[in-house]
Amino acid sequence: MTTITHLINGEHISSERTADVYNPSTGEVIHRVALADCATVQQAIDAAQAAYPAWRKTPAAKRAQIMFRFKQLLEANEARIAQLISLEHGKTLEDAAGELKRGIENVEFACAAPEILKGEYSRNVGPNIDAWSDFQPLGVVAGITPFNFPAMVPLWMYPLAIVCGNCFILKPSERDPSSTLLIAELLLEAGLPKGVMSVVHGDKEAVDALIEAPQVKALSFVGSTSIAEYIYSEGTKRGKRVQALGGAKNHAVLMPDADLDNTVNALMGAAYGSCGERCMAISVAVCVGEQIADALVQKLVPQIQGLKIGAGTNTGLDMGPLVTAAARDRVTGYIDAGVAAGAELVVDGRGLSVPGNETGFFLGGTLFDKVSPEMSIYTDEIFGPVLCIVRVDSLEQAMQLINDHEYGNGTCIFTRDGESARLFCDEIEVGMVGVNVPLPVPVAYHSFGGWKRSLFGDLHAYGPDGVRFYTKRKAITQRWPQRASHEAAQFAFPSNG
Ligand code: NAD
Repeated sequence: MTTITHLINGEHISSERTADVYNPSTGEVIHRVALADCATVQQAIDAAQAAYPAWRKTPAAKRAQIMFRFKQLLEANEARIAQLISLEHGKTLEDAAGELKRGIENVEFACAAPEILKGEYSRNVGPNIDAWSDFQPLGVVAGITPFNFPAMVPLWMYPLAIVCGNCFILKPSERDPSSTLLIAELLLEAGLPKGVMSVVHGDKEAVDALIEAPQVKALSFVGSTSIAEYIYSEGTKRGKRVQALGGAKNHAVLMPDADLDNTVNALMGAAYGSCGERCMAISVAVCVGEQIADALVQKLVPQIQGLKIGAGTNTGLDMGPLVTAAARDRVTGYIDAGVAAGAELVVDGRGLSVPGNETGFFLGGTLFDKVSPEMSIYTDEIFGPVLCIVRVDSLEQAMQLINDHEYGNGTCIFTRDGESARLFCDEIEVGMVGVNVPLPVPVAYHSFGGWKRSLFGDLHAYGPDGVRFYTKRKAITQRWPQRASHEAAQFAFPSNG
């Protein structure tokens, strides 16, 4: 059995401690992954520190050229990467290729490094004085990423961090590390100097080593809310810059005038795609009025029952398994709790057996109707193929429900009415909003981030906020006096007054 190694300073390095990596479609352990201790993390930090002075001075245009080659290598290796994602995560091949394509968008954005790092310049702000602001790198920065997007989420972080002149250490999820490692190898193949990017696999021990190391100046985290909050508080306590993106409970509001057929199709993909293991998955449909709720249930049921479910690496499927047996059991526990709390279980995905893959971590699509806000299936992030319907009487009630929820990652409204849509966009307390768009994941040149307990920190991920996060500003004010002029000492505060 192979062990997935760390990639530090261009070298493959192993560790004594390992964790099992599963194929969730069969339930078998297929690899082991090395788990870094503090000393291994320090090796990566030392390599990054050694590479930093030269990388910081490398022209942005040269850094961008490496990203151009990286993009080409990612595209050339799409099938191989998608296969690895699908094998270890369980999502379908098409879905895996989709996440890679969205990740490549971030590499494309990073290719604009010379443009995005131009800074700001003002001439003659005072007599013979010019002023400008530089975007300078932070130094060594690190990213800690979740299992559910092993390609895309790391690509939100390091292409941009690196073109901004930083050196990067990535701690990917230990559950599906192979595609993440392959992608990092491609970046070195594209010409990145070795110590500029290292990958250390691991668990809490590796993460804590990154938090504690004074040389690590910033942490980007994406994962569950409890860990996001921990990393934010521990990191900022040590003076680091931290952006920590957490969990979600994303609501779709269905207005009585929604185009129902299109809405049902949109909800199917958004609720059950990737087995619901997306931070932007729709897990609550809020129906305004009984009529649209009844019509929605009627149309959803046959589609949920008809979901094509199987091993992610087979083609033509809608849904694969959940990532681990523990994840499947956790979701099953929520379905049990929903039944016990009195919600109406319309489609029950428990106990699904996929012929030929009986030992895989499968669960069928599940639908609850008449869910109320105090039930755990409503309050908690389930992170599985479970859609809850909540019935309300008005748009205002729907919005109150969403605004009262602790999470504020994504939401959307389905309507034909511009006035309702506009009110929703203005007043909803959520970071990413769709109008007739179920998964409003911003493109790479806008930034991604939730509100409330879906994000800890001030700056969102990637795009313009990403540039701000991975750089610090330096404001330079410069005077070149004319030779003949001599100015007397000035004791009043300098101004143009
Ligand atoms: P997770 O929080 O379990 O793990 C995320 C990372 O933290 C992993 O690298 C893991 O090794 C590390 N980690 C785990 N336990 C730790 C601990 N005790 N101390 C320090 N580090 C620890 O999340 P996950 O299960 O991999 O991913 C699913 C979660 O991620 C969901 O809650 C989902 O909503 C969230 N997510 C959020 C976004 C977003 O943009 N807001 C995007 C993707 C996923």
